[in-house]
Amino acid sequence: MQPNIAQVALPVPLDKCFDYLIPNYLFPVIGGRVSVPFGRQTLIGIVVDIVDHSDFPVEQLKPIKACLDAKPVWPKPLYQLLHWCSQFYQYPLGDTLAMALPSLLKKGKAADFTSLKEWHITEAGKNQLAAGFGRAHLQAKVVRMLDHGPLPHQAMIDEDISSATLKTLQNKGWIEAKHTQPTQPEWPAQLENEQHKPHLNEEQAIAVASINNHPGFGCFLIDGVTGSGKTEVYLNIIKPVLEQGKQALVLVPEIGLTPQTINRFKRRFNVPVEVMHSGLNDTERLNAWLSARDKQAGIIIGTRSALFTPFANLGVIIVDEEHDASYKQQDTLRYHARDVAVMRGHKENFPVVLGSATPALETLHNAKTGKYHYLSLSKRAGNAQPAKHHVLDIKGLYLEGGLSAPLIAQMRRHLNSGNQVMLFLNRRGFSPALMCHECGWLAECKRCDAYYTFHQGSQEVRCHHCGSQRPVIQQCQGCGSTQLVSVGVGTEQLEKQLELLFPEFKTIRIDRDSTRRKGSLESALESIRRGEYQILIGTQMLAKGHHFPDVTLVGLLDVDGSLYSSDFRASERLAQLFIQVAGRSGRASKPGEVLLQTHHPEHALLQSLLHKDYQHFAQTALEERKMAQLPPYSFLTLFRAEGNNNDEVEAFLRQVRHTIEANPLYDEQCMVLGPMPAPLAKRAGKYRWQLMLQVTTRSQMQRLIGSSKPAIQLLPLAKKVRWNMDIEPQDLS
Ligand code: ADP
Ligand code: ZN
Ligand code: ZN
Repeated sequence: MQPNIAQVALPVPLDKCFDYLIPNYLFPVIGGRVSVPFGRQTLIGIVVDIVDHSDFPVEQLKPIKACLDAKPVWPKPLYQLLHWCSQFYQYPLGDTLAMALPSLLKKGKAADFTSLKEWHITEAGKNQLAAGFGRAHLQAKVVRMLDHGPLPHQAMIDEDISSATLKTLQNKGWIEAKHTQPTQPEWPAQLENEQHKPHLNEEQAIAVASINNHPGFGCFLIDGVTGSGKTEVYLNIIKPVLEQGKQALVLVPEIGLTPQTINRFKRRFNVPVEVMHSGLNDTERLNAWLSARDKQAGIIIGTRSALFTPFANLGVIIVDEEHDASYKQQDTLRYHARDVAVMRGHKENFPVVLGSATPALETLHNAKTGKYHYLSLSKRAGNAQPAKHHVLDIKGLYLEGGLSAPLIAQMRRHLNSGNQVMLFLNRRGFSPALMCHECGWLAECKRCDAYYTFHQGSQEVRCHHCGSQRPVIQQCQGCGSTQLVSVGVGTEQLEKQLELLFPEFKTIRIDRDSTRRKGSLESALESIRRGEYQILIGTQMLAKGHHFPDVTLVGLLDVDGSLYSSDFRASERLAQLFIQVAGRSGRASKPGEVLLQTHHPEHALLQSLLHKDYQHFAQTALEERKMAQLPPYSFLTLFRAEGNNNDEVEAFLRQVRHTIEANPLYDEQCMVLGPMPAPLAKRAGKYRWQLMLQVTTRSQMQRLIGSSKPAIQLLPLAKKVRWNMDIEPQDLS
């Protein structure tokens, strides 16, 4: 029998593919898109196999409606990597493949440059514009828009201008369509711009040579303090890659993608550099994607999801700030871009380079055990001095808006000598909670197991977990008193306090509330660099990838929360924050200083950070992890479940536990913890529970999870509660 049945992966949350008949006039390819009927809808899916039999009666199968691709969408190794991701992270194949497609391709656009139609105004159109359009307002609008310059077809559709309107105007000769075929020339003979290229120091030269002389796959950790010239090493690794006609992919954390970063790559190389991040519109994203696949682009710089870009001939992946939490996707396909990058390098046989001043403990462990090659850059380029650090014991001290008197005095000293000061506080809002001074009652969100945060600016209380908000509460609901006071300090209150303490200096706050608008973070960073502000207040997001040479004092206001957190990674994150801010402040002529406020100055973690270095901290932390059998000495899977009925949610996870324990692969190398209530036990009216599975080896974890999943999916409660599996979770909330 002729193979005339296509197995299609569809973007539906079901762990299976669907069979369709192939009409004799259609020629689908494996890895290409097809449109198919699905219930009453038409969906676009990917053909994963073409076979000659179906488990369903053939007369019940429906035919494919159309084939959208004559060749596979992805090169084969990348296509295989996506299958691997679906398996490894236990996420449906159809959804995984759909996630890796630019959204225009998901909607059925052609996967080549001809789809990028652009509209231009004609001479006749210009004349008509001068003469006027009478009452044809819509037509006038379109022609006027194009009078400012050509626009992509998709941009017009996004403006609610129909294809029919455009067609009419085209027929009248007022506008014309042009296809933006790639006009970029072949790469020039002179690939590199050698101006301002520094002479590598010895450690840099060793790192570059080790990587460039390594044939095929290898994973390299560049453990280099901030300013030690890691980026310079990256540039020197990319050069021979381009010379061999291959391309480079550079991954950066979400917030690290600034014009400065991009410009360093653009200035050095004469090949097209494309950027991929969440701010691109659909057309720009498809453009960058095609440019990599069809080898226009030499270098792609992007955030997490750029990892799934197809390349004509990829030669290296560089993961900068590899410890950064933004590399782990927190929903849908919960992949870790660093780990998948290593797998991609392995499958496609090229080197993968991980760089950081504060490598993740997992990565350091891989380097120590010889899985990764270890390269160290220990000196700051340009003779910059390392920052000095001190602990401020604030036990019993009066705090003004979270600031102790010694810290205020230090701030004054630095500000008066014309420098900038940066303060870290990982808490948005005015203060975390509103409390009754008479009876201690706390204003609590009705839908969550959490307190409201008081926002003075808007005179509201807001729940940071479900987003609900209401006007500020005036009266205690416990005793009726109107004596409500705010407890704890948030960034907003700190800002108010600083205005009182330092009226002569300007303060800027950088957190998720203040940088919600697109581009606002970028302009804030610019004005800090220009010195328009002297005091910077930030949450963790300020610590990533930015140099602040005029900041000479950094204060970490509240580190105790991280010392005693239920999340075993909290101390690692604090250490990374501490080292990163210390490394990014000051410059050669003006060394930085870091002050930590704590009630626990004797804490072993603080001591090792202060008196030793990150290496030493990491060593101690790894020993602790080993004793507790925590990653990297074991592998975790976190089951999260939530629902309206508390008992059902808990019961479901208890059944999951029994299912796993009954699996023949479950042995003394495995452990299940829970079910336990999630750290936030109730959110937006839903009860939340967790179950943790811990297994000594990754392969056993994979086999155990893979073989338990079908039985878990068959549990009756699996359809009644919302649940997911997070393989190798980073965030335990
Ligand atoms: P990192 O990425 O590790 O933070 P960079 O590559 O940005 O470090 O280097 C920090 C600064 O030192 C940059 O201004 C860079 O141009 C400069 N630099 C790097 N390597 C050298 C070198 N070998 N000689 C002189 N300057 C260098
Ligand atoms: Zn809430
Ligand atoms: Zn009260």
